[in-house]
Amino acid sequence: MTDKVLIPAAGKLTAVKGMNDLLPPDSATVEWFEAKVRGLMARFAYRNIRTPIVERTPLFVRSLGEVTDIVEKEMYCFEDRLNGDPLTLRPEATAGVVRAALEHSLLYDGGKRLYYMGPMFRHERPQKGRYRQFDQIGAEALGFSGAEVDAELILMATALWAEIGLTDVRLELNSLGQPPERLAHRQALIAYFEQHMDMLDDDARRRLHSNPLRILDTKNPHMQGLVNAAPQLLDFLGEASLTHFNTLKAILDVNGVAYTVNPRLVRGMDYYNLSVFEFTTDRLGSQGTVCAGGRYDYLFEQLGGKPTPAVGWALGVDRVLDLAKTAGLIGSGAPLDAYAIVTESSALPLVLSTLQSLRNAGLSVQMHASSADGMGSMKSQFKRADASGARYALIFGPDEIKAQQVTIKPLRDVTALQTTCSLVNPLEWAPTLQSNI
Ligand code: ATP
Ligand code: MG
Repeated sequence: MTDKVLIPAAGKLTAVKGMNDLLPPDSATVEWFEAKVRGLMARFAYRNIRTPIVERTPLFVRSLGEVTDIVEKEMYCFEDRLNGDPLTLRPEATAGVVRAALEHSLLYDGGKRLYYMGPMFRHERPQKGRYRQFDQIGAEALGFSGAEVDAELILMATALWAEIGLTDVRLELNSLGQPPERLAHRQALIAYFEQHMDMLDDDARRRLHSNPLRILDTKNPHMQGLVNAAPQLLDFLGEASLTHFNTLKAILDVNGVAYTVNPRLVRGMDYYNLSVFEFTTDRLGSQGTVCAGGRYDYLFEQLGGKPTPAVGWALGVDRVLDLAKTAGLIGSGAPLDAYAIVTESSALPLVLSTLQSLRNAGLSVQMHASSADGMGSMKSQFKRADASGARYALIFGPDEIKAQQVTIKPLRDVTALQTTCSLVNPLEWAPTLQSNI
């Protein structure tokens, strides 16, 4: 490598600010949640897609829009060190999914339902629920124009909240209409804000002519009154847009999905049209949006493809799990079935082959491992067995080994009896250790 890389000579190496390590037992919670999502996606016939974390920078500039928070302030951009290509750590995955769909002609034989899971990167001010590397799970339905697919995606998210037991997630909906409707609204909006220039902050003034819709997305509390009274896009929608919106609402109504129409919901990316929606909660303070999405019928064209309708959502894994945690709903990893206590290292070959058989039969077994001073006392091993959460201790003591046996001691159920079993065929007694949870 010819480049000079600056490496501090000494000092503690820590993770980058806003980028967190995910450690046990929290990692088990994430795995639990991901497994739920995989099951749900399969039931709705969405299939997994995995695109690279690094994409070319113009992909995001063209898809998200130049005048957006993400492109203006939040992207991690760098140059390929060999050819200088502008590259970016993905801040979101929809653009990459659409790029992949175009690059591989994924839609040649019709629409596709896809989902992804993985890390996204945004240079934001880190705080609870807002990180610089964070995990998203997203679903995208590509090539379908009907409102029933918007509804399907919302029903799928709703089913996910129900499955993990979340009850206080609210759904907000809006329709952004089509480009000519937005243009008429935009002109009305500019005229309105021009009459109130003194109340606009710097960001809003800068965006007044480049992207006035974005002003409605402001987080500045001093501008809320002004923004609330602004002309509403819903009043500018034509018949087709209204029909799409009404169909979506009718499907949600019949399925008992509660929602409120929020005319100020515009979303932070430029690519949306027609339906947009957010699932929010009051329990997470100002980081209350757990899942957000909408229709993006013009993105394929914007990225050089044929006109292709599409709709999707993305959820913030950290926020959903925080919410589930505050509601006390967290599932943990599967409990350990057994902990193997071994007092003589000479017994290890036999013990390990027994444990292999048990694991092949589907049991989870933790083996006691030696330290510098040997295997450790029976007492200290029992302590570890207890702490491991295992339901049984498998005792491979000197007497047991001599008799080619193992003693099975229940650790959780005080009424259950200790038994001794032969090591000749562990599969005979393995099923009795199987968790019935
Ligand atoms: P916000 O308004 O909170 O900044 P956003 O509109 O930028 O959210 P999206 O781009 O729609 O968010 O991303 C979808 C979801 O991903 C959000 O609803 C949120 O749950 C999660 N998310 C977005 N940014 C972050 C972040 N920096 N840290 C953790 N989760 C995030
Ligand atoms: Mg944001």
